[in-house]
Amino acid sequence: MAVSYKPQLHYSDFKDLTEQIHFHSTEGKIWFGEQRMLLMNLTSLGAFRREIVNSMGIERAKGFFLRLGYLSGLKDAELARKLRPQCSELDIFLAGPQLHSLKGMVKVVPLEIDLDQETGDFYGRFEWIDSWEVEICQTELGQMKEPACWVLLGYACAYTSSFMGREIIFREVSCRGCGDETCMIEGRPAEQWPDAAEFSRYFKADPIIEELYDLQEQLTSLRSTLQRQQGQYYGIGQSSSYNKVCKMIDKAAQGKVSVLLLGETGVGKEVIAKSVHLRSERSDGPFVAVNCAAIPPDLIEAELFGVEKGAYTGANQSREGRFERADGGTIFLDEVIELTPRAQATLLRVLQEGELERVGDNRTRKVNVRVIAATNESLEKAVDDNRFRADLFYRLNVFPVNIPPLRERLEDLPLLASHFLEKFHAQYDKKTLGLSDKALELCMQYHWPGNIRELENVIERGVILTDNNESISQDALFVTPPPVAAQSPAEQIDVEGNMRAADAHSTGSWSDSIIEQGISLDQVEEILMKQAMDQANQNVSKAARLLGLTRPALAYRLKKSGILTES
Ligand SMILES: [Zn+2]
Repeated sequence: MAVSYKPQLHYSDFKDLTEQIHFHSTEGKIWFGEQRMLLMNLTSLGAFRREIVNSMGIERAKGFFLRLGYLSGLKDAELARKLRPQCSELDIFLAGPQLHSLKGMVKVVPLEIDLDQETGDFYGRFEWIDSWEVEICQTELGQMKEPACWVLLGYACAYTSSFMGREIIFREVSCRGCGDETCMIEGRPAEQWPDAAEFSRYFKADPIIEELYDLQEQLTSLRSTLQRQQGQYYGIGQSSSYNKVCKMIDKAAQGKVSVLLLGETGVGKEVIAKSVHLRSERSDGPFVAVNCAAIPPDLIEAELFGVEKGAYTGANQSREGRFERADGGTIFLDEVIELTPRAQATLLRVLQEGELERVGDNRTRKVNVRVIAATNESLEKAVDDNRFRADLFYRLNVFPVNIPPLRERLEDLPLLASHFLEKFHAQYDKKTLGLSDKALELCMQYHWPGNIRELENVIERGVILTDNNESISQDALFVTPPPVAAQSPAEQIDVEGNMRAADAHSTGSWSDSIIEQGISLDQVEEILMKQAMDQANQNVSKAARLLGLTRPALAYRLKKSGILTES
């Protein structure tokens, strides 16, 4: 039976509802039927809503408050059925709008209601007057861009859906909260709204925690991309020797075999190892770096392969080793030559069988770890000297990569330098103008025994000592001027302003050059004496004067070094 609502039909009579309210002031409770209620002020609710909107954004806040109204609508539909069992469908239904008014939410004016619980037909149109949500828009939130009576709307949807036993959706077709003249709602079965599915989504709790986890995941992936980029300074370079190495490393990364990185200290072996890991299929797994030389020999086994409680004095609890920690990923064993014979044997077993036993344990554990080893000494020589197992050497040496020292790829230095400049500018929140031409030239002449690590340290020092918008001078880079290949200026200006041949004493670089070329003091003396004798036409007295010595002193030295045989 369809019922059409005629305005004002018994509508103001809701004594039965009013009677349900009981204030138990001394108990600290307000009852509405069987629901415990709260009397709270609008201002605090308005402030709360503003905070929710500000912290979650409009869309989330809207869902939040729609659901708040929804729960309350469900409760009230239950109450209405209980209170008006003998009444007509319409009178029972009207308890909803009346309850809304009674609770001080809004004055509801029914304009049109067609409902039939049997067929499920429903159409309703209502005007809302003095909505509490419009009021907080006026006092707290300001005018909204969309209808703002969210709690009320959620209530209407839930109440009517529960009453009709099917999903009824109300929409606010105009709202004073967004500048319209009236708040007006219309309700229909969900199927009659083209965007019902989209709207219904507001009623599904959409915990923000899920989104946070999502974001966290994205952050992790961004970080690893960033790491991938950062881990690629080994890839910085144009020199042909280095390009060859990069190609080798790229190939190595794709495969599964062990990689052996050879090269002097500081050439960036760990960075390269990490790059191999990050470019491999294992990049989501752990990367564990171990410097074998930094661990005392009697602890290395426990450190690498784990230890069981009571295995030795001090092993108070069982602990997994680095290999177990690297399971599914990559382990980088720097200075692998330092492994004890027992550790070498266990490593060989891991490589061959993919299994290990913790120290003091007889349980066999499977591990799936890719090994990247590195050494700056010759492993072959260590095998010859019986310091390193030959079978382990062959296992590790499947894919050897020789990393050239920095001095053999100096053309890459400017690129590396600017990479580190960028890094330290960011780290120290500074912006220098980079290396001065003189400083760069010095870098290009230096032989870099500490390789890239030394360059990194030097640039860090330079950035620290240099002010913003100033060039990094050579003094800022090096504590003492580094020995460089002899390149003393051919001429210099003297105090009178005249150009003359450079004074060897003032440059100091000839001594560096002598030391660098490995010339001994005896050789230097011999060369000097021969030179002086040549200039003095083999006259010992004259040569002695050139060298600032007495004749007997020079004669003695000449005889001792075999330059002069007769006295
Ligand atoms: Zn409104």
